[in-house]
Amino acid sequence: MSQRSYLDWNATAPMREEAKSAFAGALAVAGNPSSVHAEGRAARRLVETAREQVAALVGAQPGDVVFTSSGTEANMLALTPAIQTAGERQPRSRLFLSAIEHASVRAGGRFAPEATEELPVGPDGRLDLGALAAAIAKTPRPLVSLMLANNETGVVQPVVEAAAIVHAAGGLLHVDAVQAVGRIACDMGALGADLLTLSAHKIGAAKGAGGLIRAREDIHFPEPLIRGGGQERGRRAGTENVAGIAAFGAAAAAARSSRHAEAAHMAALRDRLEAGLQTISPRVVIFGNAHGVDHGAGHGAGHGVGRGVERLPNTTLFALEGMKAETAVISFDLEGVAVSSGAACSSGKVQPSHVLAAMGVSVPLRRGAVRVSLGWSTTLADIEKFLGAWRKLVSALSKEQRGIAA
Ligand code: PLP
Repeated sequence: MSQRSYLDWNATAPMREEAKSAFAGALAVAGNPSSVHAEGRAARRLVETAREQVAALVGAQPGDVVFTSSGTEANMLALTPAIQTAGERQPRSRLFLSAIEHASVRAGGRFAPEATEELPVGPDGRLDLGALAAAIAKTPRPLVSLMLANNETGVVQPVVEAAAIVHAAGGLLHVDAVQAVGRIACDMGALGADLLTLSAHKIGAAKGAGGLIRAREDIHFPEPLIRGGGQERGRRAGTENVAGIAAFGAAAAAARSSRHAEAAHMAALRDRLEAGLQTISPRVVIFGNAHGVDHGAGHGAGHGVGRGVERLPNTTLFALEGMKAETAVISFDLEGVAVSSGAACSSGKVQPSHVLAAMGVSVPLRRGAVRVSLGWSTTLADIEKFLGAWRKLVSALSKEQRGIAA
């Protein structure tokens, strides 16, 4: 079989070489990081080095990083009414989140469903800041969760502006930066994030590690999700995933030093891919496309699907009316190209995208949304292969449609 092209980096990234070496090195260390002997101290050093590397990636202090098993767990840990700051020890009564958050945020953490409120996004896929301000105005101590970039569309959210609104209302802002980190600037101070979630496998480390990072030491998590031993300073019990954490640290260091070059590389290939998509199929809709074209006319439920907004440099979500995403993903796969239909989901079943629904995209277009996501090792040959497969698919589709019309 000729070489495959992996273009599903938002689902997971291949491991970086630096992360593989760190992972393998950690497997050779026998100790438990909580043990006081030399073997234990060696394991502890690996964990603490990784803590420094992960903190540096987002401009935080190492002591403010809690390692978890995943981005999902970090989101769960963050979203609790019990979260406290030095100045405020009352529980937080309500959680506000954008309608396009990942399922692990939409689950609402430890808030009751009736204490959780979804906020709308515009047709461009960005949070409606007016709706945020209005919603939290009457809530004392609101907790707000807003992702930095969306996993399906890649649309970057107005986090800095949201932080100003949330802080003016006496609230705390949690930012799910799982898809954004390593691709765009992600400094907690500059963003105004009080809490930030990361996932190791999205930046080229192993699956099964994540982190919740607080901006200041006066933010407390008095109710850990996992209780038992005193690991992670009592904030997350359980013997640490030393190899996974060491790989996370190494990937964070690599992502930090090569972000600018990698982002430029991905953006150039993404632009080539989108230009090719539009040449082959002029009716294609690219969600959040920055070319200033409103593709929504005639397709959306009375809405456009977005003029140009800032997106991640690696993500393209597109649709063509009449195309079914599942069929397209299978066709690409048979041609040796791995892409996904909107959000990859754990059950393998394709769910209609809540993100596109929140953007007001029509049902037929939503059903046809395919996500292509690139990474640091994607090549021009991968893009050409993808476009070759797309040409075939479009031609088969138009034959089928002519057949139906005949
Ligand atoms: N948040 C976002 C935006 C994601 O895209 C994902 C994974 O796809 C997660 C959270 C969950 O991360 P993990 O796979 O580490 O649980």
